[in-house]
Amino acid sequence: MLKNLVTELIGMVLATTPVASQSTGSADAGLIDDLVAANRILADQGVLDGFGHVSVRHDKDPSCFLLARSMAPALVTAADIMEFDLDGNPTDARGRTAYLERFIHSEIYKAHPKVQAVVHSHSPAVIPFGVVGVALRPVFHLGGFLGTGVPVFEIRDTGGEATDMLVRNRELGAALAKTLGAAPVALMRGHGDVVVGQSVAEAVFRAIYTEVNARLESEALQLGQGQVVFLNEAEARQAAETNSAQVGRPWELWKAKALAGGC
Ligand SMILES: [Zn+2]
Repeated sequence: MLKNLVTELIGMVLATTPVASQSTGSADAGLIDDLVAANRILADQGVLDGFGHVSVRHDKDPSCFLLARSMAPALVTAADIMEFDLDGNPTDARGRTAYLERFIHSEIYKAHPKVQAVVHSHSPAVIPFGVVGVALRPVFHLGGFLGTGVPVFEIRDTGGEATDMLVRNRELGAALAKTLGAAPVALMRGHGDVVVGQSVAEAVFRAIYTEVNARLESEALQLGQGQVVFLNEAEARQAAETNSAQVGRPWELWKAKALAGGC
């Protein structure tokens, strides 16, 4: 009798549980918090300003990812985080507007299954390296991850001579993802860069140190009149390995600073 009652109650609960708008279920709250923190950190560190965005692959469904609605990253809260499929379609829009360049994220997640987080920015110090044919290379140990080479995406190859420079469709996103290949960073000529990682913290670390390395490399090239001793391949690889185990330390500092006094 009691057993029947319990079974009946469970059945009633299940019948009244609302069906999610997608098959994945809700993303982990901690992951959403990390993504909100990443938005604030990258704005605080000068990598993102009113533009640019950061995303993370869904923890329960690798064919989905999370990205804020179209807004300034410094103002992002958990309520602004939307979910997208790998064609860049929102699965839970609820009236919110998506970023025009969400195809950067969707096509990179589609083409590169190991990538867990993506940052797209107009990181100012990297812009010169996309337009003058000077390679972005590791000038100090924290830029070691750049040692595998940094490709440059030329939008004209896919979009022709008259785009607005934005990666605003799947075709352009796929071309960018192809240019990126297995590299952690690709520059986008006349626009910015895209940085990937195996966690939100790693992508944030790389995005920040791509900006710092670019600034230092420009200074070193000027100071040394073009003569710069870069990290060699082994140094870059070893430094990158060491640093990838240390991303939690600066992450906590950047997060505390970015969220101080925030909501
Ligand atoms: Zn952009």
